[in-house]
Amino acid sequence: MKAKNMVKLSFYSRSVNEGFARGALAAFLAQADPTVPELADVKTAVSEAVTNCIVHAYPQGVGLVHLSVALYDEGLVRITVADKGVGIPDVEKAMQPMFTTGNPEERAGLGFAVMQSFMDKVRVTSAPGKGTRVVMSKRLASRG
Ligand code: ATP
Ligand code: MG
Repeated sequence: MKAKNMVKLSFYSRSVNEGFARGALAAFLAQADPTVPELADVKTAVSEAVTNCIVHAYPQGVGLVHLSVALYDEGLVRITVADKGVGIPDVEKAMQPMFTTGNPEERAGLGFAVMQSFMDKVRVTSAPGKGTRVVMSKRLASRG
C-alpha cells in the first residue's frame, strides 16, 4: 500500500524533543483533518513511544529517535517510532500493563498499554543491543 503522504524525522533522545515530536506530528496530521479527540489520542500514543526511546533506549547517553508518519487512503495513519538502543529482551512481557524496568517511583509501566488503548493496532519488534521499533496505526473516522 502506497502512502498518500509521508514525513520522516530523526532527533536526539533528549526529553525536550518529546514536545517537538508532538508538535511536529500535529502539524503534519492537520492535512488529514482529525477530530480533536483523534488528534489527542495519536499525540498521546506517540508521546509514550518517544518517551520510551528517551528514557529506556540509550541508558548510557543520547542516541537517535526516528519518527515517521504516513497517511493512506480512508484516513489511515501509520506511525513508526524506532531507536538503535539497548532493545527489549522480552517484548511480550514488556508490553504487559505495570511491567517496568524503570524506577517504580517514576514509571507506571503503562506506556504500551496507553499506546494500545489509543491506537487501533500496535506492533513492537525489538532485538537486544540493536534497538526497538514500534509501529502503530489508527483510522481517522470518515476522512478521505
Ligand atoms: P511508563 O511508560 O508508564 O512511564 P515504562 O516506560 O516503564 O513506564 P512502558 O512504556 O509500558 O512502561 O514500557 C515497558 C518497558 O519496556 C520499559 O520499562 C522498558 O523496560 C521497556 N522499553 C520500552 N520501550 C523501550 C525502548 N525503546 N528501548 C528499550 N526498552 C524499552
Ligand atoms: Mg513508557
